[in-house]
Amino acid sequence: MNGSADTILITGGRVYDHDGDTDHPPVADILIVGDHIEAVGPGLAERLPVLLGRPADNVIDARNHLVLPGLVNAHYHSHDTLLKGCFEAIPRETWLLNALPPNYPRRSRAELRARTLLGAVECLRAGITTVQDMATMAPMDAGDIDVVLAAYAEAGIRCVFSLQTGDVHGAAVTPFWEALLPKSVAGGMSGVVSSAVLAEGLAEQLRELHAQLDTGHETITWGLAPSSPERCSPAFLRALARLSAEAGLPVFTHIYESRATTLIARQKFGHWDGSLVRYLDDHGLLGPRTCLAHGVWMQPSEMRLIAEAGASVVLNPVGNLKTRSGVAPMSRYVDSGINLGLGCDNNSCSDAQNLFQAMKAFAGLAAVSSVVSHRPTARDALFAATAGGAQAVGLGDRVGRIRPGFKADLTLLDTTDPAFVPLNSAARQVVFSECGRSVDVVIVNGRVVVRGGRTTTVDETALRHEIEAVMAGLRADISAVCGRTEALRPHLEEAHRRTWDAPLEVHRYVGVPND
Ligand SMILES: [Zn+2]
Repeated sequence: MNGSADTILITGGRVYDHDGDTDHPPVADILIVGDHIEAVGPGLAERLPVLLGRPADNVIDARNHLVLPGLVNAHYHSHDTLLKGCFEAIPRETWLLNALPPNYPRRSRAELRARTLLGAVECLRAGITTVQDMATMAPMDAGDIDVVLAAYAEAGIRCVFSLQTGDVHGAAVTPFWEALLPKSVAGGMSGVVSSAVLAEGLAEQLRELHAQLDTGHETITWGLAPSSPERCSPAFLRALARLSAEAGLPVFTHIYESRATTLIARQKFGHWDGSLVRYLDDHGLLGPRTCLAHGVWMQPSEMRLIAEAGASVVLNPVGNLKTRSGVAPMSRYVDSGINLGLGCDNNSCSDAQNLFQAMKAFAGLAAVSSVVSHRPTARDALFAATAGGAQAVGLGDRVGRIRPGFKADLTLLDTTDPAFVPLNSAARQVVFSECGRSVDVVIVNGRVVVRGGRTTTVDETALRHEIEAVMAGLRADISAVCGRTEALRPHLEEAHRRTWDAPLEVHRYVGVPND
């Protein structure tokens, strides 16, 4: 034990254990030394002279509180946090045109900092202690990325950071776009032709950025983020597989988010039986370090491959609804034994970084994916939002459980909130009753980052002013980008109609297609 490290004693809270009584977790104390949990159990306060040899530096009275492992937002993008509320529920392929950074002019560093901080603050205040950021940076400039990383360090949230990239243009792998979009537009939208040289160059750029910017920060780790299998050439995937193996980096990607992304697999990946999972596997990217976001349109045979490989799937049920992408087969996923995490995805497609919403949707949407399975239960949902997500982002041995030796990432909920009165089941009331209102104290890596529901690390008023200052310019750009998308609407709608009409053996909507 480090005798000089800061210590926190949390007394009298109900401490949640996935393997214990999840309805009425027993009252226990938690001793934090430095960045980790040193001890958990009843009566630690009395044993402190033996355990620590001195009083704790800080004592948090957690009576009337439920102490949860900090929530893990296992799929998120910081690049559009300022776009929340900008769009109605629109199809994913149209929404991407409005949301993706390459469609916008380069952003100022003031905006990069403000948007990253805002996302971190929103997460922390919702009890999220770890976020997996698949950030799209246009361009991938080391100085710009450093601004983002500095904002994460300032906010104090744990971040598994990754740079989202691909070497095949989106228009080339979106069904019917190249045929239907006007040539003047398609030229700019489908111009990227992948090649081995390009793939190696891009992978080398990622290798250099990681070597330069991963400085061993205690709350910021790195991963790789090939945008989606169809957006990546075989050469690029192989290069990323090598980089992942060399540096032990987790790999994050989107897969089968929408009907369109599934149809393109059948249209263009026949060599792999139309399966993007087999495509990844064939290039060394299906293993325990692999984390697949969405998987709405996954086939059962592919689930078996994922389970055998020990890869994870991160479900994003709220974002999938808002992008009209359908409902993932929740029950089948739970029954498959695949490790599952939950994510909140972009702020412009789920519009909230709130895992309470995600947990409730995950548990509730099983109603339209299976009538026989009784899972996922609330306990499953809370596991996915903590330990499952931690494993999915490569932190399963450190985060997601309240145990000695684990990092001190904790979320304390005030159980005098109506959501917990009366307390009938902690797990069920966290998942079905709570909305984020009761988040009182949040601790990350042994540091109190939220107290009384407000961040202690960020001046939230000053941040609001910083955001106001950048919004005038951003609003004008949003308007221009949306205007461009609107002009393409007849072509986009025709592409959607053809995507709908094309036969596909998987169905992920409630009711019949086009009902
Ligand atoms: Zn995403």
